[in-house]
Amino acid sequence: MPSSLSGQKVLVFGLAKSGVAALRLLLAQGAQVTALDARDEAALGDVARELKSQGVKLVTGATPPGLLEEQELVVVSPGVPLALPELQAARKEGVRIWGEIELAWRALSHVPLIGITGTNGKSTTTALAGELFKKGGGRTFVGGNLGLPLAEAALKPNGWDTLVVELSSFQLEGIHQLRAKGAVILNLTPDHLDRYPSHEAYGEAKARIFLNQGPGDFAVVNAEDAHVVRLGNHANVPVYGFSLTGKVEPGGPKLTGLAVARQGGFRLDFLGEDYTLTNRALRGAHNAQNAMAAALLARLGGVPREAVQAGLDSYPGLPHRLESVRVLDGVEWVNDSKATNVDSVLVALRAFPGNLLLIAGGKGKGAPYQPMVDESRGKVKAVLTIGQDAEKIAAAYQGQAPVHPCGTLESAVRRARELAKSGDTVLLSPACASYDQFKNFEDRGDTFKRFVQAL
Ligand code: ADP
Repeated sequence: MPSSLSGQKVLVFGLAKSGVAALRLLLAQGAQVTALDARDEAALGDVARELKSQGVKLVTGATPPGLLEEQELVVVSPGVPLALPELQAARKEGVRIWGEIELAWRALSHVPLIGITGTNGKSTTTALAGELFKKGGGRTFVGGNLGLPLAEAALKPNGWDTLVVELSSFQLEGIHQLRAKGAVILNLTPDHLDRYPSHEAYGEAKARIFLNQGPGDFAVVNAEDAHVVRLGNHANVPVYGFSLTGKVEPGGPKLTGLAVARQGGFRLDFLGEDYTLTNRALRGAHNAQNAMAAALLARLGGVPREAVQAGLDSYPGLPHRLESVRVLDGVEWVNDSKATNVDSVLVALRAFPGNLLLIAGGKGKGAPYQPMVDESRGKVKAVLTIGQDAEKIAAAYQGQAPVHPCGTLESAVRRARELAKSGDTVLLSPACASYDQFKNFEDRGDTFKRFVQAL
């Protein structure tokens, strides 16, 4: 694979999924590669063995003084903060510092890239936009922060017509020349304030998605999110918006076009096109936003109208996000194990008209449960609690809804089966992390699905 990095000294910092993909790409490009990770070889396991067998120099533990300075390029995994003193020092010495995404993009700059960022809904919008581009017939890579790293796509640089890429703010910090043909910021709520000095700084990182855009490119913003609308001012290309109500927050650029929700679907006003949204995998107002964003990206990115509608209808949904598991005796069972905080549960509760049995609990994050109780009013018939925070949740719901302490997910499923009547929905939307009883939220969701399928 011809590359300007051939023969150059390159170090990859951080050996999680993206770092390992970057290493493979660099090896294919003929770079002289060193790999660095704070974990020791035993913790790296198979990765360490694989790299060593390929002739990569592996350095573990604390960064040896001078190691970064002697490189021509350092490629940083999204999990490694760019603010680390050793990275700052190397930068001062003139060493180039790129994120894995930037490295991958350099090999893919001839392929249009659709970039998706925001606090919530990135994975859903990326998967959905990917579905729409695929329906349009192009060879579409879907990945980035979700699924496969972009460096995997770069191993086959001539294999793609479009790249649909989820970009976290950490990944966006590490880009320099990456140019998105289409880019969206979905929303911005306080998050990762552990890694950013302020909400403004977090927003600035997200706005980097508009960096380097030029003629023929476009930007998309959530028109009802005041902060996102203002970030639209960073874009030097036509900016489009999406809005559930038709309202557009002030302070942003003049919008070239708007997607607006309407009964049963949405309209792209600037094209005079109406779309229906009946897919169960996209229920809820939050998914209407994700769908409008994806449809804008696809239509503006050249996907025909019929293909967009077909993709909205066929999108299978992502696991653990309002995932319909089964309908049994008129009761629908829904796995929303990804809802590891109270905000996500609010989003889930809003997606249903009522008749809910809510399974919640786990390792709590310390946020108050009261907003969940308020959103549950008139909708939640019973709360089934599990895990460490069961008592706190029970206390919050006291006098508001019947609470059934169940302890484990298995007994919650059994209890819900006894309680639920035809027309009800049993919703696992825990508001908590899973680590007290499961490996991770995927394990919790898979376990739930197993129990439900066995009923
Ligand atoms: P991300 O990749 O940004 O974490 P996901 O698509 O995986 O996003 O969704 C994660 C959770 O965020 C969902 O379970 C849902 O609770 C919430 N969510 C999804 N889309 C939105 C949205 N557009 N606005 C607000 N919350 C959302």
